[in-house]
Amino acid sequence: MQSLQQIINVLETVAPLSLQESYDNSGLVYGDPTKMINKAIAALDLTEEVLQEALTLKAELIILHHPPIFKPIKRLSYHDITSQLIIQAIKTDIAIYACHTNLDNVLWGVNGEIANRLGIKEYEVLAPMNGTHQKLITFVPVENLEAVRDALFSIGAGAIGNYHECSFIISGEGTFLPLEGANPWIGKIGQRHTEKESRLELLFPIHLKQQILDTLHKAHPYETVAYDLVSLDNTFSQFGAGVIGNLPESVEEEQLLEILKLTFKTGTIRHNPLTKRTIRKIALCGGSGKSLINNALSKKADAYITADLSYHDFFIPGNRMLLADIGHYESEQFTSDRLVAILNEKFPNFAVLKSGVNTNPVNYFL
Ligand SMILES: [Zn+2]
Repeated sequence: MQSLQQIINVLETVAPLSLQESYDNSGLVYGDPTKMINKAIAALDLTEEVLQEALTLKAELIILHHPPIFKPIKRLSYHDITSQLIIQAIKTDIAIYACHTNLDNVLWGVNGEIANRLGIKEYEVLAPMNGTHQKLITFVPVENLEAVRDALFSIGAGAIGNYHECSFIISGEGTFLPLEGANPWIGKIGQRHTEKESRLELLFPIHLKQQILDTLHKAHPYETVAYDLVSLDNTFSQFGAGVIGNLPESVEEEQLLEILKLTFKTGTIRHNPLTKRTIRKIALCGGSGKSLINNALSKKADAYITADLSYHDFFIPGNRMLLADIGHYESEQFTSDRLVAILNEKFPNFAVLKSGVNTNPVNYFL
């Protein structure tokens, strides 16, 4: 049994809320974070059937990909389907948590899961996002440098891609004049003090900001710690939308479409004209990925797999790339498995199940 807050902490360590898009509404939708949870289910969407399934299975938490409240709602009306579902969740005290574009925007999230299903072993983010990291610059007495730096490393500062414990240090002199009321670690009230200090610089992902500052204040000996936080425009290969990577071996266009049909159990696949190209490099984005067509083209993908494309989108690649729309639900169906795996890895004995309900609202008349 885990508290709801413990479960949220795990999900938000893997998919920090700071990575969600500005239009999104990921996070806890309803529920008491202190409540102990015996069982949870993971689903793509909140529907009447999913709520019923949670009740039948005695699950106290539903973890979703799509937030049931996406735009602000002004009243809970019994005439509105979203309101009805929320009212029912509250009445039956089933907590609702959504892990949406924050799970889209990590390499190990929605799109990493799709890449795994296609046998793509090595992949990177298709459209890396900026604004994910900040730089901490602080000034530490030389003798305390190692302790402060180690404390910051231990909570994840200084990690850049496959390199951890990255930092930069330069030596110099710091001065300060403690005033009446101060309690200086070194130096005397009313006298300027000069101390040999190191300027320490390291990066950290912004969701760790409060933890970084708490750790800095705890490990640093000064009563008042001098530091700068600098926002960075850099992008990092693990954060952003879509992924791109190579299939284990090249396939013909029709073969790829066949693989997609089987893997994603699609009712139909819409695609641009075939050009008899050989496909190896695949770009993909689960859900509505039309905004990344040009990213896939500029990275010279042989095929781009996504969903929710409109008529005109199919003209964009010309004959440079195969563009395939495999359906929104179909493309994201493995997200529930990912959510289950994330929690199973951290809490091996916690009961979290993939919902058995197919919530796809789109049907195909064949
Ligand atoms: Zn979606």
